[in-house]
Amino acid sequence: MDIEQFRKAGYAAIDRICDYYASLQARPVIAQVQPGYLRKLIPDAAPEKGEDFTVVQDDYQKFIVPGLTSWQHPSFFAYFPTACTFEGILGDLYASSVCHPGFNWSCSPASTELEAITMDWGAKLLGLSPAFYNTSGVGGGVIMTTASDSALTVIVAARSRYTRLFPEVKAEQLILYVTTQTHSLGVKAGLVLGLKVRAIDVKAEDNFALRGEVLRKALEEDTEKGLKPFVFVATVGTTSSGAIDRLEEIGPVVQDYPGLWLHVDAAWAGVALSCPEYREIAKLASINEYATSFCTNFHKWGLVNFDMSTLWVRDRKLLTDALDVTPEFLRTKHGDAGTVVDYRNWHLGLGRRFRSLKFWFVLRGFGVKGFQNYIRRCIKLNDLFVSLLKSSPNFAIVTPPSFALTVFRLEPTQSSDINPSASQLNDLNRIFWSRVSARHDIYLTQTDLNGVFCIRLAVGAERTTEAHIRQAFELLSTEAEGALKVWQEARTADE
Ligand SMILES: *Cc1c(COP(=O)(O)O)cnc(C)c1O
Repeated sequence: MDIEQFRKAGYAAIDRICDYYASLQARPVIAQVQPGYLRKLIPDAAPEKGEDFTVVQDDYQKFIVPGLTSWQHPSFFAYFPTACTFEGILGDLYASSVCHPGFNWSCSPASTELEAITMDWGAKLLGLSPAFYNTSGVGGGVIMTTASDSALTVIVAARSRYTRLFPEVKAEQLILYVTTQTHSLGVKAGLVLGLKVRAIDVKAEDNFALRGEVLRKALEEDTEKGLKPFVFVATVGTTSSGAIDRLEEIGPVVQDYPGLWLHVDAAWAGVALSCPEYREIAKLASINEYATSFCTNFHKWGLVNFDMSTLWVRDRKLLTDALDVTPEFLRTKHGDAGTVVDYRNWHLGLGRRFRSLKFWFVLRGFGVKGFQNYIRRCIKLNDLFVSLLKSSPNFAIVTPPSFALTVFRLEPTQSSDINPSASQLNDLNRIFWSRVSARHDIYLTQTDLNGVFCIRLAVGAERTTEAHIRQAFELLSTEAEGALKVWQEARTADE
């Protein structure tokens, strides 16, 4: 393809992308294809001779688009949202057009410098302490691929710091802490690194948040057994229910254990810190006081296209001491002189994409005010959903709604004299869930909280409006009626 052909194909691609967004509402949320559908449509080897791009582009439309689940659909309420804005798309387009591996400053100075600057913009947007700014020269921020990548990286750094502080400690004594509600990234990092992992139980009565005393007890028990706690992964906004660990209690406990690293995973909820009114609930003061590192994903609820996980550390040397390997061919004048940041020493991979460009575009396009308005709008829409649930005698809210996430289920006990057992209620909710998940016009996910089967609704797609929330509630009410009928018939037949 030459420049003029690219110009034409590029315009056509943008047209098609616009058509996709213009027709989003009318599309199914969930792709209506069966596993293996694509093998039937696409040859099993690459063509011998290059094809005309107009044919290729048409095949995208014909074969790929029907197999897409639309995460940007206004009725997408599953998992957590995955941000996608036109500003972000354009940032990615420019970034791939200049395509460089960005591993050090010299690769393309604009890439490293824009990252250092926009990560400070991000820190300020969220109210993080200046200790985390790149301009501090001590702490700093780096763009990572995912929260899992961020966690793995800090756990490697935490292990390295611990064994530098206590060289006599053996690898098998090291223990990594998470809770039973921590994202699987903790357990996975343990698997990858061959570390002992302890998942501390959290209770429904604490709204699935970890309390300081519970952590202290676990640390004491394990220390007594000769184990060495070196990192704890706390969560602000757990995946299942949006729980927020009690960092104000956890921080002082962690400080009693020298060398214990506190990583705060706020992959989804962290961007709510952009609004001053949510900083207290999201524990900003404790993050600023106690966290060794903090991660949030702007690619979830933060308007920046996947991938865009942001990681801040209080001391960048904790990363570089663990990860700086500089063979001769990677040495540069500025790197040797220490006058520039070489981000490759802040994470596991070498090469990295030019992600700061989309961050910059989004933050400039929306501004702080626009960003805050978007977060507030999502939370308000979730409040509306909560009020609709509360108006119904059949639904119950399982844990307190968290920002833009609600965990709910059917509990008809509230309205009638029937008195089902916990397992009967789970059966009812599984029937309800099978009906909801069979639909293609709405997408939610299920979860289990200490044995209670329930359903999550997360607001966050940019195009979701009040009408979509009301429609979601109506549709859930219809499926609830159907499920209740089936369930009651089965119970009557059992009696
Ligand atoms: C989504 C999520 C993750 C995982 O995010 P990735 O970026 O996909 O690794 C981790 N922690 C929490 C709390 C999450 O919500």
